[in-house]
Amino acid sequence: MGEEQVKVASVLIPLPVREAFDYEVPEGIDVVRGDQVAVPLGPRLMRGIVVEARETTGSNRRLKAIDHRIDDPRLPERTVDFVEWAGRWTLSAPGEMAATALKGLRAPRPRPERRVRRVGEAVPARPTAARTAVLEALGQRAVTGADLARAAGVSSGVVKGLVDEGVLEIVEIEAVAAFDAPDPDHAPSDLNADQAAAAQAIGDAVTRGGFAPFLLDGITGSGKTEAYLEAAAQALKADPTAQILILLPEIALTQALIERITARFGNAPAEWHSGVAPPRRRQVWEAVVAGRCNIVVGARSALFLPFVNLRLLVVDEEHDGSFKQDEGLIYHGRDLAVARARIEGATVVLASATPSLETLWNARQGRYGWLRLERRHGAAVLPDIALLDLRAAPPDPQTWLSAPLREVLGETFARGEQSLLFLNRRGYAPVVLCRVCGHRMTAPDTDSWLVEHRYTGRLVCHLTGFSMMRPRTCPSCGAEDSLVSVGPGVERVEEEVRQLFPQARTAVFSSDTTPDARSARALIQSMQDGQIDILVATQAAAKGHNFPNLTLVGVVDADLGLRGGDLRAAERTFQLLSQATGRAGRADKPGRALLQTWTPEHPVLMALAAGDRDAFVEAELAEREAGSLPPHGRLAAIILSSENPQAVEKVARDLAENIPNAERLEVYGPADAPLALVRGRRRKRLLVRADRDVDLQGFLRAWLARVKVPGSVRLSVDVDPYSFL
Ligand code: ADP
Repeated sequence: MGEEQVKVASVLIPLPVREAFDYEVPEGIDVVRGDQVAVPLGPRLMRGIVVEARETTGSNRRLKAIDHRIDDPRLPERTVDFVEWAGRWTLSAPGEMAATALKGLRAPRPRPERRVRRVGEAVPARPTAARTAVLEALGQRAVTGADLARAAGVSSGVVKGLVDEGVLEIVEIEAVAAFDAPDPDHAPSDLNADQAAAAQAIGDAVTRGGFAPFLLDGITGSGKTEAYLEAAAQALKADPTAQILILLPEIALTQALIERITARFGNAPAEWHSGVAPPRRRQVWEAVVAGRCNIVVGARSALFLPFVNLRLLVVDEEHDGSFKQDEGLIYHGRDLAVARARIEGATVVLASATPSLETLWNARQGRYGWLRLERRHGAAVLPDIALLDLRAAPPDPQTWLSAPLREVLGETFARGEQSLLFLNRRGYAPVVLCRVCGHRMTAPDTDSWLVEHRYTGRLVCHLTGFSMMRPRTCPSCGAEDSLVSVGPGVERVEEEVRQLFPQARTAVFSSDTTPDARSARALIQSMQDGQIDILVATQAAAKGHNFPNLTLVGVVDADLGLRGGDLRAAERTFQLLSQATGRAGRADKPGRALLQTWTPEHPVLMALAAGDRDAFVEAELAEREAGSLPPHGRLAAIILSSENPQAVEKVARDLAENIPNAERLEVYGPADAPLALVRGRRRKRLLVRADRDVDLQGFLRAWLARVKVPGSVRLSVDVDPYSFL
């Protein structure tokens, strides 16, 4: 019997599916890895990515056939490698990673633009002056009616009349975005010696090719951005087709960087994040895969763009927790950036003034090149940091600023300089309770206290977004006007500042006052323009921004972050307060920072005051090592949730009973999650700790394969968790 040759393709469908499905490749269709195809799935045709095409003989099951190849760009081979790798690393469905990679393609095309142009040699029956002006202004071009009327200095009715008469016609022009090539010689900076050395090291690595990771470790304002932009320029000089990706932790930071890149390279880079309109995202996606776009500035999801010649990746503010996506597809943008660079054979630069312990550890082990910038550029110096012991000078009841801080605020204001008061708490008051019965206002379906927002008059759950009007009577005991606001949020501190300094112009900077990129930009601009004297801000303002006239940073509650006992509490507090205090004294005026604390003897605060990052890192790494915790060991969390509490219990029990044998690895839990109820769903957690050389993902895969999870229970795996809630 003659063996029948069949062509088979494995196709990854962008859905939460665990694996690629096999399809027969019919005669006349040729597919290779990365091609996009339409395949039948149930009753529907779905888009999918070919991950493998092969010939087999005598298959014993009948496969469904690929319907047709879709005429969209093929995904570059290494983009597919990355998608598959990311799926394996995070234990998420590879189909979901594929969906992220195709996101830009699935956005609508920009609407074609309606323009007018001349119809042949047609002339108007009545050539008035206005009509002649229109025809002269137009010439042989096609422009929009509005532009034409403006150019000719006539009303749009004149243009319309010519269209009606058949002298002009309307044509639809496909909007093709031009991404003008960056010019590396447009406006080079004059780098100082340290900056030039760092730029050189990065640029050389890019030119050499191959995977090369760097830590660019430099205090705020030392010129890290200058250095990596110079390296990007070198990369472009060596290879004008080179692609460069710069990731930022927050959309609010992109505008300033885009302006700097435009000034440096003469043309704007492409922008990629959730705030970019979908049709524009589609243009960026298509330009990236066609190699028509060199520099992309974006959020972590830009990692999934189909680059064809990615030579340099930069993760700016690499320590920032916002790079970790905690919901839906769970991944860490920084870790995936390093992986993408490895797969692409590219250079990756992790830049920070307060690098994560993971990255510092890799640098110390020699895995990453370590580039340091230790001085601020020009005359700027780091601010003088002092601790204000609240035990010696407590604020008055129901106020939050101590006398010494108030005094310095007043002096700064009197000198016409700006101050920033930092408190990482949104809203007016974190807790609202009844002074009669002690009832605390909580969310109805979630284990969290409601936060009072005065600007909107509402009580808000920051976890789920649930909100309600602040009631007049206590919902528990019915007492009237008995609810009191406990503790400060940024709105309350601003209220205090306004009472203390009625002449000062104040503002609040938090995700509530700047819900989108535009409002954030406006606020940053008015701060830079000196229209605000005292800014009260959450971490939204702690990073990246450059406020030349800001000379005082007051930290309202330096102990805040230290109280939560999770793995990175100390590290995060150190980073956040370094960033916040680093906002002061960026230009030629010296800055100072005052940290209010009840525990001035805390090692984190002492290290901050002494400006001794190394001491902090040393102590913290030693502590992590003692517990074999990251970066010395690895963690993974499994989170179960369901509206049905028994179903969660059952899966948790099954998991506990089916732990595979493994050495140098422990499983903790199952236990109720600290947030045991969210949106009416019961939550349980398990935590796995493993030594670094253990195949943690392999262990997790083997374990999860043993347990059946019913549809009513959601199970998510969080490799290297940052949130322990
Ligand atoms: P970082 O990224 O380390 O915070 P930046 O690159 O943003 O530092 O530099 C801080 C400020 O100093 C910016 O306003 C920048 O334009 C300026 N600056 C840094 N280096 C130079 C340089 N070599 N020449 C001119 N200005 C510089």
